[in-house]
Amino acid sequence: MASPVLPSSGVLSPLGLDAVRPAPGFWGDRIALNRAVTMAHAHEWMEKEGWIANFRGDVPRRGREFSDSEIYKLLEGMAWADHPALPELAAIVARAQEPDGYLNTRWKDARYTDFEWGHELYCYGHLIQAGVARLRMHGEDELTEVVRRVADHVCARFMETTETCGHPVIEMALVELYRATGTERYLEMARRFVERRGLPALADIEFGRGYFQDDIPVRQTRVFHGHAVRALYLAAGVVDVAVETGDVDLLKTVEAQWESTIARRTYLTGGMGSRHFGESFGEDYELPSDRAYSETCAGIASIMLSHRLLLATGDARYADLAERTLYNVVATALALDGKSFFYANPLQVRVPAKPLEGINLAAEGGLRSPWFTVSCCPSNIARTFASLPAYFAAAEESGVRIHHYTPSRIRHEGLVLDVETDYPWSGAVTVRVAEGGTGRISLRVPSWAEGATISHGGTKRAVSPGYAVAEAEGGWRPGDVITLDLPMTARWTVPDSRIDAIRGSVAIERGPLVYCAESVGDQPPLAEVVVRPEEPVEQAVDGAIELDVKAALISGAPTGWPYTAEKDSPEEEPITLRLVAYHRWGNHGPATMRVWLPVDTDPAFSGGTR
Ligand SMILES: [Zn+2]
Repeated sequence: MASPVLPSSGVLSPLGLDAVRPAPGFWGDRIALNRAVTMAHAHEWMEKEGWIANFRGDVPRRGREFSDSEIYKLLEGMAWADHPALPELAAIVARAQEPDGYLNTRWKDARYTDFEWGHELYCYGHLIQAGVARLRMHGEDELTEVVRRVADHVCARFMETTETCGHPVIEMALVELYRATGTERYLEMARRFVERRGLPALADIEFGRGYFQDDIPVRQTRVFHGHAVRALYLAAGVVDVAVETGDVDLLKTVEAQWESTIARRTYLTGGMGSRHFGESFGEDYELPSDRAYSETCAGIASIMLSHRLLLATGDARYADLAERTLYNVVATALALDGKSFFYANPLQVRVPAKPLEGINLAAEGGLRSPWFTVSCCPSNIARTFASLPAYFAAAEESGVRIHHYTPSRIRHEGLVLDVETDYPWSGAVTVRVAEGGTGRISLRVPSWAEGATISHGGTKRAVSPGYAVAEAEGGWRPGDVITLDLPMTARWTVPDSRIDAIRGSVAIERGPLVYCAESVGDQPPLAEVVVRPEEPVEQAVDGAIELDVKAALISGAPTGWPYTAEKDSPEEEPITLRLVAYHRWGNHGPATMRVWLPVDTDPAFSGGTR
C-alpha cells in the first residue's frame, strides 16, 4: 500500500496512491504541476545553492545546518511521484554515508555536538520518510538500504541515552519505518524519543525550552506551544507511537491538545503559529492578521497530524480542519505557475512587497519567492502534493469514506468509484459506480454545510455535518450514482470576541474557501474600507473565484493623533469591494491584502447575517 501513513489499527485504514488516482481538477492539476514543474524547480535550486554538492563533498559546504533535509524531502516527493530523477539523486546521498550509518554533511567532523540546533536526527527523520515512500512505491533499492543503515545507527547510538533532537520529526519517521519493515526496535526508539522529551532532554536556549517542546513532558502538555512546525511534527509522531503501542491515554492527550489548539490558537485559514519570534504559537486568542506567521510547513504538519487523528478515530472534524488548511494554506503557498512559494501566510498585508530577484533571505509574506535561505516550505509542498491522493479517501470495516472532493477514481475491494465535481467552486459532487461491489459509501459533510442533501437510488434526503452514508441493498452496480449537494452560498463569518486583533471585523467564506480583498484593479484603499454584513454577497465572475460586497470608505483625513473620544463615521456613498479566493491572492504582482474586514457600525455587528 502506497500511503505516507499506514497504522496497524484505527477506525479507518488509508487507501494509498495505488487505490486513489486523481483526474484533472483542483487538486489533480496541482499534483500534475508539482510533478512536472515544482520538483524540477526545487532540484535546480538545491543544485544551484550547493546543497547537493555538499553530499559530493569536494567543495566547501554551503547552506544552513539542516539543508540536507531539503534534499530528503524532495527525494520523498520523487518517490511518491515515481520521478525518474530519484535514483541519481539517491546515489549522491548514498555515497556520503559513513560505514557505521552516520550521514550528515554539516556535522560529520563534530557528530552530535549540538542537539539543540544541529538537526542531525531531524535530517534523518526526513531521510527515513523518503525511504519509506520508496519502499512502498518501488521496493528495496539503494535509497532504502541507506535508510535502514541510518535507522540502525540511530537505534545503536540513542536507545540507551537521554538525548533527543531540537527539531522533532524522527519520531513519526521511525514509526513509519517500523510499519514498513516490521523492525520493532524502530518503534521502541520512537517511543523513547517521545517519552524523554520535556524531562528535559535539551539545554535551555534564548527562546526557552518551550520552543522545542522540551519544557513539559508530552503527557502533561495541554495545548500546542512553541515552534509550530516542531510542535505539530512531534504530535504526529506521538499519535503514531500511541496507535502502535495501544496507548489510549497518550492518544487522548493529543486529541485534547488538538481540541484546545483549534479552539484558541488557529487562524480562519487553518494556519497555525502566530508569532514570527521563534516561529511559534502565540498565547490563546493571540491571532493577529498582519503579524500572522502561519508557516506553510506548519499547515502541512497540521494536516499530517489531523490525518493521523482521523484514521485513528474516524471523526470528520479532523478531515474538516485538513480541508480548511489544504485550501487556504497549502494551495495558497504555491504560485499558479508552480515555481514560487509563500513561507509565511499572513491574513493581512499592509504594504505591497518589493519584488525580489533570486533567493529570499527572510520568510515575510507578501510575494511568493522562488527559493529561500531556509527552504523548508518548497520541498514540503513537493512531497505533500506528490502524496496528496492518499488523503482523499479511506477504508472502514465495511466500505469507503470519501473525505476530499476532487475528480478522482477510487478503488476498494472490487468497487471502483469515479468522483466527478467542480468543487470547491461548485457544491455538487457526483460519485459514479464504475465497477460494482458491496459496502457503505460515506461522504464527508463539512461542518459549514448546513442544508446539504444526498441523493441515490431515487431518494433524496437532508444530511448533517459528519458523514452522509449511502448503502445499496444487494450491492452497488455499475452506473449507480450518488449525488451530494453542499450549499455554496457565500457566508459572513464573525470571530470570537476574545480574538482581540480582529474584534469588530468579519470575513467571507464560501464552501471551504476563505476570501480576501486584494489591491489589484480599481479597488478602494484596503486600510480604509468598512463593510456592511447585512448586504448580500454577489458572485462577480463565473465559478465564484471572485465575489463582490458592498462597502464604504472611512471618512475624514487622519488627525495626527489616532485616539479620540468620537468614533469616525463612514461615508454614505456605498462602493463595491471585490474579494478573491485567498489561495489565489498574490498572483498579480505586489499588492495589499486583507481577509478580515471591519464592520461599519459600532458596537460591532452581532449575529451571522447570511
Ligand atoms: Zn517551512
